[in-house]
Amino acid sequence: MTPPTRPPEDLIQRRPEGLYCPAGDFHIDPWRPVARAVITHAHADHARPGHGAYLAQRDGEALLRARLGEDIAFQGLAYGEPLRLGAVTLSLHPAGHVLGSAQVRVEHRGEVWVVSGDYFASGAGDHNPTCAPFEPVRCHTFITECTFGLPIYRWAAQAAVIDEIRAWWAGCAAEGRHALLMGYSLGKAQHLLAGLATAQAPGPVWVHGAVARLNAAYQASGVALPAAATVTAETDWKRQRGALVIAPPAVQGSAWARRLGPHRDAFASGWMRLRGARRRQGVDRGFVFSDHADWPGLLQAITATGAQRVIVTHGDEDALIRWLREQHGLQAETLATEFHDADTELPAAASTDSPPGAAP
Ligand SMILES: [Zn+2]
Ligand SMILES: [Zn+2]
Repeated sequence: MTPPTRPPEDLIQRRPEGLYCPAGDFHIDPWRPVARAVITHAHADHARPGHGAYLAQRDGEALLRARLGEDIAFQGLAYGEPLRLGAVTLSLHPAGHVLGSAQVRVEHRGEVWVVSGDYFASGAGDHNPTCAPFEPVRCHTFITECTFGLPIYRWAAQAAVIDEIRAWWAGCAAEGRHALLMGYSLGKAQHLLAGLATAQAPGPVWVHGAVARLNAAYQASGVALPAAATVTAETDWKRQRGALVIAPPAVQGSAWARRLGPHRDAFASGWMRLRGARRRQGVDRGFVFSDHADWPGLLQAITATGAQRVIVTHGDEDALIRWLREQHGLQAETLATEFHDADTELPAAASTDSPPGAAP
């Protein structure tokens, strides 16, 4: 793409409330209440309560309402559907991260910016089967996440990780224990459920109530998830054999987890790539399983945009910026934001599953 003559100011800017597009008069994933918010996806650090109006990809509507309240003013767009806002044309494109996750493309007088939100692109070529796969969008300026922006983060093929989890679960069942698998309740849990609750499963799959509520939002949006029973105070674990229980990380060490009876526990997270993180969590197993881009995925995704200017946010930016400048001669810079996924925190520190309407 030929770079246009740069307008006097950036098309998307950082304001105290969040990322702002002056030419279209809207914010993207703002962290303070604004009149009009364009939302990349339903995770708590991107979709916050209190905005006047929400615009997002339409597949994510039920998730946003489950998270923020049924009464939010919501406008949904299909992927690729253009919308005129002020002087810009906006469209949303698949990010592959969770249901309804979108990259925001903004075009103004021939100049194109893309804000990626969180996205999943893996060097192993995987995509998340519970949502539309990531599609790179050609642009002049790309604002990218870099949650796992270091060369040590390389994801194995997800089918192989699912096989490892299933083998661990079968081992737990053989010992007469349940298997407690912890992962973020929005997105990760559904992705795990889709991979694990199959005919080859060693036993029944149960989910925590917080996961069940979000499963219902996925199903309301037309995603066919496998059936899984919901854990309640009445669930009689002594009568269950070889159950896998999918729950948010916050249950670790809780009374809720103790009620399961004899069990082993594991985390599924990109951070499990770090041995120290696994040890600090004190879980029996860590599975490296993420819905964020790994290092090769980030590099491929950024290159595929054709962007000459890359703005890096959302993590450990330095290594990625150096690589983009030195290897590709791109203009690369950081932008401080207040995005910080519960998904990407170490599980014990994660505050997942705040009730609908609560601040993240
Ligand atoms: Zn996210
Ligand atoms: Zn995020």
